[in-house]
Amino acid sequence: MTVPILSVENVSKRFGGVVANDAVSLAVPEGAIVGLIGPNGSGKSTLFGSIVGFHPVDGGSVRFRGEEISRYRVPKIARMGLVRTFQQTHIYGQMSCLANMLISVPQRHERFLATFRRPRGEERDRAESLLASVGLWEKRALMAGELSFGQQKLLEFAMALMCEPKLLLLDEPTAGINPTLINGLVAQLRRANAELGITLLVIEHNMRVIMNLADHLYCMAHGRILAQGSAEEIRTDQRVIDAYLGAQ
Ligand code: ADP
Ligand code: MG
Repeated sequence: MTVPILSVENVSKRFGGVVANDAVSLAVPEGAIVGLIGPNGSGKSTLFGSIVGFHPVDGGSVRFRGEEISRYRVPKIARMGLVRTFQQTHIYGQMSCLANMLISVPQRHERFLATFRRPRGEERDRAESLLASVGLWEKRALMAGELSFGQQKLLEFAMALMCEPKLLLLDEPTAGINPTLINGLVAQLRRANAELGITLLVIEHNMRVIMNLADHLYCMAHGRILAQGSAEEIRTDQRVIDAYLGAQ
Protein backbone atom coordinates (compact mmCIF):
# COMPACT_ATOMS: atom_id res chain seq x y z
CA MET A 1 0.00 0.00 0.00
CA THR A 2 1.33 3.48 -0.83
CA VAL A 3 1.65 6.19 1.84
CA PRO A 4 -1.35 8.57 1.74
CA ILE A 5 -0.53 12.15 0.73
CA LEU A 6 -2.38 13.24 3.90
CA SER A 7 -2.75 11.25 7.05
CA VAL A 8 -4.61 12.63 10.07
CA GLU A 9 -4.48 10.58 13.26
CA ASN A 10 -6.43 11.27 16.45
CA VAL A 11 -6.47 15.03 15.96
CA SER A 12 -8.30 16.90 18.69
CA LYS A 13 -9.11 20.60 18.94
CA ARG A 14 -11.18 22.41 21.50
CA PHE A 15 -12.29 26.03 21.70
CA GLY A 16 -12.85 26.73 25.38
CA GLY A 17 -15.43 24.17 26.41
CA VAL A 18 -16.35 23.16 22.85
CA VAL A 19 -14.70 19.99 21.56
CA ALA A 20 -14.68 20.80 17.83
CA ASN A 21 -12.52 17.82 16.79
CA ASP A 22 -12.42 14.73 18.97
CA ALA A 23 -9.70 12.23 17.96
CA VAL A 24 -10.35 12.59 14.22
CA SER A 25 -8.51 10.25 11.86
CA LEU A 26 -8.65 10.19 8.08
CA ALA A 27 -6.40 9.41 5.14
CA VAL A 28 -6.32 10.92 1.65
CA PRO A 29 -4.62 8.85 -1.08
CA GLU A 30 -2.47 10.74 -3.58
CA GLY A 31 -4.43 11.70 -6.69
CA ALA A 32 -7.84 11.11 -5.10
CA ILE A 33 -10.87 13.32 -4.62
CA VAL A 34 -12.10 12.76 -1.06
CA GLY A 35 -15.32 14.26 0.31
CA LEU A 36 -16.02 15.46 3.85
CA ILE A 37 -19.67 15.87 4.81
CA GLY A 38 -21.64 16.33 8.00
CA PRO A 39 -24.09 18.68 9.71
CA ASN A 40 -23.26 22.31 10.50
CA GLY A 41 -21.06 22.56 13.57
CA SER A 42 -19.75 19.00 13.25
CA GLY A 43 -16.14 20.22 13.06
CA LYS A 44 -15.32 20.08 9.32
CA SER A 45 -13.89 23.60 8.93
CA THR A 46 -12.02 23.23 12.22
CA LEU A 47 -10.39 20.08 10.86
CA PHE A 48 -9.20 22.04 7.80
CA GLY A 49 -7.75 24.70 10.12
CA SER A 50 -5.97 22.00 12.11
CA ILE A 51 -4.51 20.41 8.95
CA VAL A 52 -3.17 23.61 7.37
CA GLY A 53 -1.68 25.08 10.56
CA PHE A 54 -4.29 27.81 10.96
CA HIS A 55 -4.50 27.02 14.69
CA PRO A 56 -2.43 24.67 16.87
CA VAL A 57 -4.01 21.27 17.58
CA ASP A 58 -4.46 19.98 21.11
CA GLY A 59 -3.30 16.50 20.19
CA GLY A 60 -2.77 14.02 17.40
CA SER A 61 -0.72 13.81 14.26
CA VAL A 62 -0.98 15.33 10.78
CA ARG A 63 1.38 13.96 8.16
CA PHE A 64 1.72 15.41 4.67
CA ARG A 65 3.71 13.31 2.21
CA GLY A 66 5.08 11.41 5.21
CA GLU A 67 6.24 14.52 7.12
CA GLU A 68 4.77 15.50 10.48
CA ILE A 69 3.33 19.00 10.01
CA SER A 70 1.07 19.45 13.04
CA ARG A 71 3.44 22.01 14.59
CA TYR A 72 4.00 23.98 11.38
CA ARG A 73 2.08 27.14 10.57
CA VAL A 74 0.19 28.17 7.41
CA PRO A 75 2.98 29.74 5.26
CA LYS A 76 5.35 26.81 5.68
CA ILE A 77 2.61 24.27 4.98
CA ALA A 78 1.48 26.25 1.93
CA ARG A 79 5.04 26.27 0.58
CA MET A 80 5.09 22.48 0.98
CA GLY A 81 2.06 22.31 -1.34
CA LEU A 82 -0.89 22.05 1.05
CA VAL A 83 -3.40 24.88 0.69
CA ARG A 84 -7.02 25.52 1.73
CA THR A 85 -9.81 27.77 0.55
CA PHE A 86 -12.35 29.24 2.96
CA GLN A 87 -16.09 28.80 3.43
CA GLN A 88 -16.31 32.61 3.37
CA THR A 89 -14.06 33.90 0.59
CA HIS A 90 -10.77 35.56 1.55
CA ILE A 91 -10.11 38.00 -1.27
CA TYR A 92 -9.10 41.65 -1.25
CA GLY A 93 -12.15 43.47 -2.59
CA GLN A 94 -10.32 46.75 -3.25
CA MET A 95 -7.65 45.08 -5.36
CA SER A 96 -7.92 43.86 -8.94
CA CYS A 97 -8.45 40.17 -9.66
CA LEU A 98 -4.95 40.01 -11.13
CA ALA A 99 -3.39 41.63 -8.04
CA ASN A 100 -5.24 39.13 -5.83
CA MET A 101 -3.72 36.33 -7.90
CA LEU A 102 -0.20 37.75 -7.60
CA ILE A 103 -0.24 38.17 -3.82
CA SER A 104 -1.51 34.63 -3.20
CA VAL A 105 1.83 33.00 -3.98
CA PRO A 106 3.02 31.66 -0.60
CA GLN A 107 6.70 32.74 -0.70
CA ARG A 108 5.52 36.33 -0.41
CA HIS A 109 5.73 36.77 3.35
CA GLU A 110 4.96 40.47 3.16
CA ARG A 111 1.72 40.79 1.29
CA PHE A 112 1.79 44.56 1.72
CA LEU A 113 5.24 44.88 0.13
CA ALA A 114 4.30 42.38 -2.55
CA THR A 115 1.62 44.75 -3.83
CA PHE A 116 4.33 47.27 -4.71
CA ARG A 117 6.69 44.74 -6.19
CA ARG A 118 6.72 44.49 -9.95
CA PRO A 119 5.73 40.89 -10.61
CA ARG A 120 7.96 38.82 -12.80
CA GLY A 121 6.43 38.34 -16.22
CA GLU A 122 6.25 34.63 -15.82
CA GLU A 123 4.17 34.90 -12.63
CA ARG A 124 1.86 37.33 -14.33
CA ASP A 125 1.46 35.01 -17.31
CA ARG A 126 0.57 32.16 -14.98
CA ALA A 127 -1.96 34.37 -13.17
CA GLU A 128 -3.57 35.39 -16.44
CA SER A 129 -3.73 31.86 -17.76
CA LEU A 130 -5.30 30.59 -14.52
CA LEU A 131 -7.82 33.45 -14.63
CA ALA A 132 -8.62 32.41 -18.19
CA SER A 133 -9.09 28.79 -17.11
CA VAL A 134 -11.82 29.78 -14.63
CA GLY A 135 -13.44 32.17 -17.11
CA LEU A 136 -12.33 35.38 -15.38
CA TRP A 137 -9.67 36.65 -17.79
CA GLU A 138 -11.90 39.44 -19.02
CA LYS A 139 -12.45 40.55 -15.41
CA ARG A 140 -8.73 40.59 -14.55
CA ALA A 141 -8.50 44.38 -14.11
CA LEU A 142 -11.79 44.62 -12.20
CA MET A 143 -11.78 45.10 -8.41
CA ALA A 144 -12.38 41.66 -6.91
CA GLY A 145 -15.15 43.12 -4.72
CA GLU A 146 -17.17 43.85 -7.85
CA LEU A 147 -17.42 40.20 -8.83
CA SER A 148 -20.52 38.18 -7.98
CA PHE A 149 -20.13 35.82 -5.02
CA GLY A 150 -19.86 32.85 -7.37
CA GLN A 151 -17.14 34.58 -9.40
CA GLN A 152 -15.31 35.39 -6.16
CA LYS A 153 -15.33 31.67 -5.33
CA LEU A 154 -13.85 30.95 -8.77
CA LEU A 155 -11.23 33.64 -8.19
CA GLU A 156 -10.35 32.14 -4.83
CA PHE A 157 -9.96 28.74 -6.47
CA ALA A 158 -7.65 30.23 -9.11
CA MET A 159 -5.70 32.01 -6.32
CA ALA A 160 -5.20 28.67 -4.58
CA LEU A 161 -3.85 27.22 -7.85
CA MET A 162 -1.24 30.03 -7.97
CA CYS A 163 0.37 28.26 -4.99
CA GLU A 164 0.85 25.14 -7.16
CA PRO A 165 -0.65 22.89 -4.47
CA LYS A 166 -0.20 19.13 -4.36
CA LEU A 167 -3.20 18.88 -2.04
CA LEU A 168 -6.02 21.40 -2.03
CA LEU A 169 -8.63 21.55 0.74
CA LEU A 170 -11.86 23.18 -0.45
CA ASP A 171 -14.39 24.39 2.13
CA GLU A 172 -17.87 24.34 0.57
CA PRO A 173 -16.74 25.46 -2.90
CA THR A 174 -20.27 25.53 -4.34
CA ALA A 175 -22.04 27.25 -1.42
CA GLY A 176 -23.85 30.38 -2.58
CA ILE A 177 -23.12 29.74 -6.26
CA ASN A 178 -25.90 29.59 -8.82
CA PRO A 179 -26.52 26.20 -10.52
CA THR A 180 -24.96 27.24 -13.84
CA LEU A 181 -21.69 28.25 -12.20
CA ILE A 182 -21.74 25.11 -10.01
CA ASN A 183 -21.39 22.84 -13.05
CA GLY A 184 -18.50 24.95 -14.32
CA LEU A 185 -16.77 24.86 -10.95
CA VAL A 186 -17.17 21.09 -10.65
CA ALA A 187 -15.62 20.74 -14.13
CA GLN A 188 -12.72 22.94 -12.92
CA LEU A 189 -12.18 20.75 -9.87
CA ARG A 190 -12.13 17.60 -11.98
CA ARG A 191 -9.66 19.21 -14.38
CA ALA A 192 -7.35 20.35 -11.59
CA ASN A 193 -7.38 16.77 -10.33
CA ALA A 194 -6.98 14.99 -13.67
CA GLU A 195 -4.73 17.40 -15.57
CA LEU A 196 -2.71 19.14 -12.84
CA GLY A 197 -2.57 16.05 -10.61
CA ILE A 198 -3.89 17.96 -7.58
CA THR A 199 -5.33 15.79 -4.82
CA LEU A 200 -8.58 17.24 -3.41
CA LEU A 201 -10.26 17.07 -0.01
CA VAL A 202 -13.64 18.75 -0.33
CA ILE A 203 -16.19 19.83 2.29
CA GLU A 204 -19.53 20.05 0.51
CA HIS A 205 -23.20 20.27 1.43
CA ASN A 206 -24.49 19.75 -2.10
CA MET A 207 -24.97 15.98 -2.07
CA ARG A 208 -25.42 15.70 -5.83
CA VAL A 209 -22.07 17.41 -6.34
CA ILE A 210 -20.04 15.55 -3.73
CA MET A 211 -21.50 12.09 -4.37
CA ASN A 212 -20.55 12.47 -8.06
CA LEU A 213 -17.18 14.05 -7.45
CA ALA A 214 -15.65 12.05 -4.59
CA ASP A 215 -13.97 8.65 -4.83
CA HIS A 216 -14.33 8.25 -1.08
CA LEU A 217 -16.29 10.10 1.60
CA TYR A 218 -16.02 10.77 5.31
CA CYS A 219 -18.99 11.91 7.37
CA MET A 220 -18.44 13.85 10.61
CA ALA A 221 -20.88 14.42 13.47
CA HIS A 222 -20.23 16.01 16.87
CA GLY A 223 -16.53 16.46 16.17
CA ARG A 224 -15.93 12.83 15.24
CA ILE A 225 -15.76 10.71 12.11
CA LEU A 226 -19.11 8.93 12.03
CA ALA A 227 -18.64 6.86 8.87
CA GLN A 228 -16.53 6.53 5.74
CA GLY A 229 -16.93 4.73 2.45
CA SER A 230 -17.92 5.03 -1.20
CA ALA A 231 -20.79 7.32 -2.20
CA GLU A 232 -23.12 4.31 -2.25
CA GLU A 233 -21.99 3.12 1.19
CA ILE A 234 -22.41 6.61 2.68
CA ARG A 235 -25.77 7.19 1.03
CA THR A 236 -27.17 4.00 2.56
CA ASP A 237 -25.40 4.16 5.95
CA GLN A 238 -28.13 4.37 8.61
CA ARG A 239 -25.91 6.43 10.97
CA VAL A 240 -25.27 9.00 8.21
CA ILE A 241 -28.96 9.12 7.33
CA ASP A 242 -29.91 9.67 10.98
CA ALA A 243 -27.24 12.30 11.68
CA TYR A 244 -27.26 14.18 8.40
CA LEU A 245 -28.92 12.99 5.22
CA GLY A 246 -32.32 12.45 6.83
CA ALA A 247 -32.37 16.11 7.81
CA GLN A 248 -31.43 17.37 4.32
P1 ADP B 1 -18.53 22.86 10.47
O1 ADP B 1 -17.50 23.43 9.56
O2 ADP B 1 -18.67 21.38 10.38
O3 ADP B 1 -19.86 23.54 10.32
P2 ADP B 1 -16.92 24.09 12.54
O4 ADP B 1 -15.63 23.39 12.48
O5 ADP B 1 -17.01 25.42 11.94
O6 ADP B 1 -18.07 23.12 11.98
O7 ADP B 1 -17.37 24.22 14.08
C1 ADP B 1 -17.29 23.14 15.00
C2 ADP B 1 -17.61 23.66 16.39
O8 ADP B 1 -16.54 24.47 16.86
C3 ADP B 1 -18.86 24.51 16.46
O9 ADP B 1 -19.49 24.27 17.69
C4 ADP B 1 -18.30 25.92 16.40
O10 ADP B 1 -19.17 26.82 17.04
C5 ADP B 1 -17.00 25.79 17.16
N1 ADP B 1 -15.96 26.73 16.69
C6 ADP B 1 -15.38 26.75 15.48
N2 ADP B 1 -14.44 27.71 15.38
C7 ADP B 1 -14.43 28.33 16.59
C8 ADP B 1 -13.67 29.41 17.16
N3 ADP B 1 -12.74 30.04 16.44
N4 ADP B 1 -13.94 29.76 18.43
C9 ADP B 1 -14.87 29.12 19.15
N5 ADP B 1 -15.61 28.09 18.70
C10 ADP B 1 -15.40 27.69 17.43
MG1 MG C 1 -17.69 24.88 8.05
